[in-house]
Amino acid sequence: AHIADLVPYPPGKPLEELEREYGITGAVKLASNENPLGPSPKAVAAVREAAANLHRYPDGSGYYLKHRLAERLGVDLAGIVLGNGSNELIDLLVRVFVAPGDEVASSDPAFLVYRKMVQAAAGRNVLVPLRGHRHDLPAMARRVTDRTRLVFLDNPHNPTGSILARPDFEAFLADLPETVLVVLDEAYAEFVRGETPRALDYLGRDRRVVGLRTFSKAHGLAGLRVGYGVMDPEVAGYLERVRQPFNVNAAAQAGALAALDDEAHLRRTLEVTWSGMDRLREGLSALGCRVLESHTNFLMADMGRDAGEVYEAVLRRGVILRSMAAYGYPTWIRITVGRPEENERCLAALAEVLTG
Ligand code: PMP
Repeated sequence: AHIADLVPYPPGKPLEELEREYGITGAVKLASNENPLGPSPKAVAAVREAAANLHRYPDGSGYYLKHRLAERLGVDLAGIVLGNGSNELIDLLVRVFVAPGDEVASSDPAFLVYRKMVQAAAGRNVLVPLRGHRHDLPAMARRVTDRTRLVFLDNPHNPTGSILARPDFEAFLADLPETVLVVLDEAYAEFVRGETPRALDYLGRDRRVVGLRTFSKAHGLAGLRVGYGVMDPEVAGYLERVRQPFNVNAAAQAGALAALDDEAHLRRTLEVTWSGMDRLREGLSALGCRVLESHTNFLMADMGRDAGEVYEAVLRRGVILRSMAAYGYPTWIRITVGRPEENERCLAALAEVLTG
């Protein structure tokens, strides 16, 4: 029954199908928090090169990628686990630590994959409403029981873009039982402008803290599906026992390795994202929309009217955004920061819809 109750992850149609349906061409897609600059050219070259060996199985241990990450992050190699996107690490954590009836806490709303995996494992989702668009850690602490196994905190948070304050997080950790793992999902960590606790700060000091990172966002490799977790080596050992032997394919390993070395691409990505974010914020404010402060590559804005209708209306004008109606924000839209010309098209479409 817990499987029958699951709702498939909102798949969305292929871009070309949407364009056909709405009679548009050259649509601007600002819906999935992807990198508007595309992948690093170095990653593309590495993937091409890897293609020559597609008849071979990938390196099941992710030797080179793990070594490079360990060196970069200054962490123990044995504490790194690679995944088919960070999504797979969420799945692994739940499969390893959550037995039927066990509890997992997360915010409501938060990244949807947490609750989905918990439900698939017949675990119990303990959903804690946000407070002021941020994780409500005191409320979450009150919901921890002796059945709690995991706490998922997306930091920065999807969809609001808010970040945790260090004193709040430390107070939360101080009261948390030794047996609960706290997963800091840092999918958007590179974009943070400000101070926030990072999993790496706790590694080697607190075995309960697990960090998740991805190549899908700032590194622009969402299509390759590669992410990783950093954690206590003993915790990593459990995930390694369950992990599929070839979960990260050869192209993904090669592309991720090259992307890690392309610091110039990452820097350009951050510059374009931050300046685009500021421009969108200004443009949206001029349209009278309330905008949340965001530490990611997307922002949430209140349209002051039905978000589903705004989504449809801007789509007809060739701009694909995300309605937050299903996340408990019926009048809010989530916009991924694009290239300058994409941001302008988005603002122009919204101006027509909101003031027309
Ligand atoms: N965590 C959060 C908070 C996300 O927003 C996303 C992507 N939408 C992910 C994890 C998953 O990323 P990946 O592509 O690495 O599976």
